[in-house]
Amino acid sequence: MSGGAQVRAGIVVTGTELLTGLLADRNGPWVAQQLGGLGVEVATLLCVGDRPDDLDSSLRFLASQQVDLIVTSGGLGPTADDITAEVVARFAGVELALDEAMEERIASILARFTHLSRFDAGAMRAANRKQALIPRGAATVDPAGTAPGLVVPVDGGPTVMVLPGPPRELQAMWEPALATAPARAVLDRAHPYVSVLLRLFGLPESEIADTLREVGAEADLSPLEITTCLRRSELEVDIRHRPGAEPVRDKVVAEIAQRHDQYLFSSDGSSIDDQVAQLLADRRIGLAESCTGGLLGGRLTERAGSSAYVAGGVVSYSDAAKTELLGVPAGMIERHGAVSPEVARAMADGALHRLEADLGCAITGVAGPGGGSEAKPVGYVCVCVTTAGGAVLARDLVLPGNRADVRERSVTLAMHMIRQLLGEGADGGRTRTPSGGR
Ligand code: ATP
Repeated sequence: MSGGAQVRAGIVVTGTELLTGLLADRNGPWVAQQLGGLGVEVATLLCVGDRPDDLDSSLRFLASQQVDLIVTSGGLGPTADDITAEVVARFAGVELALDEAMEERIASILARFTHLSRFDAGAMRAANRKQALIPRGAATVDPAGTAPGLVVPVDGGPTVMVLPGPPRELQAMWEPALATAPARAVLDRAHPYVSVLLRLFGLPESEIADTLREVGAEADLSPLEITTCLRRSELEVDIRHRPGAEPVRDKVVAEIAQRHDQYLFSSDGSSIDDQVAQLLADRRIGLAESCTGGLLGGRLTERAGSSAYVAGGVVSYSDAAKTELLGVPAGMIERHGAVSPEVARAMADGALHRLEADLGCAITGVAGPGGGSEAKPVGYVCVCVTTAGGAVLARDLVLPGNRADVRERSVTLAMHMIRQLLGEGADGGRTRTPSGGR
């Protein structure tokens, strides 16, 4: 990518529980995304245990990679294995000194809890005095919990931004940490990228690769950094560049839009969840889920305000539940099987009417690993969306992957079918096959 000297960063997440696999890292990717948005190139993301020597070597390794900034997460607490401030001070070649104002601030935070606790307030304060030991010359960031953040300038080396481990605390302290003078001195040199995010559903990654190869044969794409990634069964194409490369960026976007129009559902950053929520405004949806066990309901109700458009959902796992709760005729289940387009349609109609909704959506399928047959193998899923006006959108297909994949992909497919039916005007009264979605 062209355009001036890059500001480069390294990230070190600490915590033995991350290395033993007990906990999945939520800080590294979050910090990487924030830095990317600021125009900083993230060179390396490391994960180390709570061992001083390992943390020290990772800081030295990153310094040898010529990064301008290191962000650490974790190890700022009051206990003996919280070693980050001490190791970073040693790395910076400075001493730790007690910041009395910070000690007072931590004491006042603790005072709010100690009257509720059976622990000795004095002992707690002594333990937390450790958190007010600050490397000389560092800027401090007020705690979101009890641990202050630090931004430590290093003579002849990368500035180190030290943040606590709990993701909620780290995220709350991010903006104040960026605003400190030592952080500004580094970040003011970064030039944010311009970026466009395209989202497609139902298109294999190889098709985008082909398109990019063909466009690249006619135009110089080197000013663009293009990343494609499959997330929740959708293909995301992230196109980033420095200001000035808009014409070639627009050419790539136009080619993708023209060649894959049927699959492209977002070029303004909106997610399928955003679009479905918007389309459902002033309507109410009723859900009937079998193999997804309520995952579609969970997905639709993730966002605040969804009670305005989610009427409810029935997790009708057994045949009896399908019959009793949704009115699916027992004979239909016997004739066609619980996983069939007919039953999916009857489930969607049942949800629509029983929940007095404007549209109904049903999912029934074989999530596996057992229960498949030659005619209906593992991954065979039937999804149906119906409206009070008589429109129907139905699909049955075999989704790839294991049980978790099949369930997640079924939900994503249903989201896209809801979008398609509502996007087209939901009252056509026709049965159609949706575009996209494998
Ligand atoms: P505290 O004052 O809470 O001890 P700390 O900075 O010392 O803060 P850690 O002890 O490293 O933080 O982590 C505290 C908890 O925060 C962990 O047990 C874990 O639940 C959560 N946590 C820490 N790091 C991560 C991470 N990278 N991803 C997800 N959760 C994390």
